[in-house]
Amino acid sequence: MYTDKELEALARAAAELASGLPVDPDRGDAAADEALVQVLLDTARRLHDNFPYHHPLYAGQMLKPPHPVARLAWALAMTVNPNNHALDGGRASSAMEREAVARLAAMFGWQTHLGHLTGGGTMANLEALWIARELHPERGVAASALAHYTHRRLAGVLRMPFREVEADACGRLDPAALEAAAADGRIGTVVATLGTTGTGSTDPLPDILDVAARHGLRVHVDAAYGGYFRLLDTVSAEAARAFAVVDRADSIVIDPHKHGLQPYGCGCILFRDPSVAVHYRHDSAYTYFTSDDPHLGEISLECSRAGAAAVALWATQRLLPPAPGGEFAADLARCRRAAVALHGALADDPAFLTLMPPDLDIVVWAPAGTTAGEISRASRRCFHRAAERGLHLALMEVSAALAAPWWPGVRFDEASVTVLRSVLMKPEHERALPGILKTLRAAAA
Ligand SMILES: *Cc1c(COP(=O)(O)O)cnc(C)c1O
Repeated sequence: MYTDKELEALARAAAELASGLPVDPDRGDAAADEALVQVLLDTARRLHDNFPYHHPLYAGQMLKPPHPVARLAWALAMTVNPNNHALDGGRASSAMEREAVARLAAMFGWQTHLGHLTGGGTMANLEALWIARELHPERGVAASALAHYTHRRLAGVLRMPFREVEADACGRLDPAALEAAAADGRIGTVVATLGTTGTGSTDPLPDILDVAARHGLRVHVDAAYGGYFRLLDTVSAEAARAFAVVDRADSIVIDPHKHGLQPYGCGCILFRDPSVAVHYRHDSAYTYFTSDDPHLGEISLECSRAGAAAVALWATQRLLPPAPGGEFAADLARCRRAAVALHGALADDPAFLTLMPPDLDIVVWAPAGTTAGEISRASRRCFHRAAERGLHLALMEVSAALAAPWWPGVRFDEASVTVLRSVLMKPEHERALPGILKTLRAAAA
């Protein structure tokens, strides 16, 4: 919600912005038009049909409200509506994008890099795999069975062979399976996910780097979800081990619109070696005139992009620097503590079955049962009953291979099982945890 204080801050900032740009003196005030007000009110009513993403009892999908500073900076930028394709369309916001992206690169330990913002993690991963293909033509991509489905699809778009590699019971890519998959020399790139979308599992990056070195593979780290956890020393030991060597990756994707408090439309691709820029080279007869400095459109696949996304990220980083020990990291640590506490409480409760302990802040579990079919039905029932009580969870389908090692007493009459999933990505989840557990227990009873 926009509070009065926020609207006042926006009005002051908008006046400051207007003082530095010429305004059309004959411009009317469209907001004074009653028809516009009525349309906005209708719009608000249409938007009632949403889950309450901002509420701490929304503990389902990967949705996190943007920080007020991000929303306000975005709205402020809208009065200019810059286009970060070229400096001609967004001079100030392009500079802010460079600074904000350098800040993300620095978070991963890179003092030099090539990178830019994208519409989201999908576009960012597309660029990573595209550059991988340019560097290793004819060779394919390997990713774990729990990697985001986008990698298989993007490999199809790029006409690269795709090889799925087994994951272990913790949802982490199995380095021995990668070694076997790479043996015939037809893999050119491996995707290591630091924070899988389903379970938040972190692939064993040090072992993946070893295999990659033996077989000449590029290593692309998909940290769209988990990247900001680089700032914490309270993640699982396996996650800490992976993040400690993330600077050795060839490319990294992080989505500020996931854990970075940004509105949607903010992903980021980073390359360790700035010279991959040669693959982006193109000529444009009509875009790049106002500067000899490189324009962002010369190092990205997308052309027009919201400069507002860069402005919002830049402003957020000013208020909440993505640094270890700061307020941003403290909020992330609250999410992590909530996940560890939820997993612990469910593991101690005979009414529930847990799977792997969380590497980051995503927890998967199910109501107790004796067969996979029974557990799946109970999960769906619990999901609906919890929603009736105001607690919003998510459902997930996991393979029998992933669940069986955790549930020795369960008979697997089906190839997969439906479980409950909570992405505890709001810091408020920590204080809401007693309420979450109480509602959950009532829903499962
Ligand atoms: C969310 C996510 C993606 C896709 O990113 P979008 O921003 O939704 O396009 C890719 N990989 C991982 C690990 C993700 O969590």
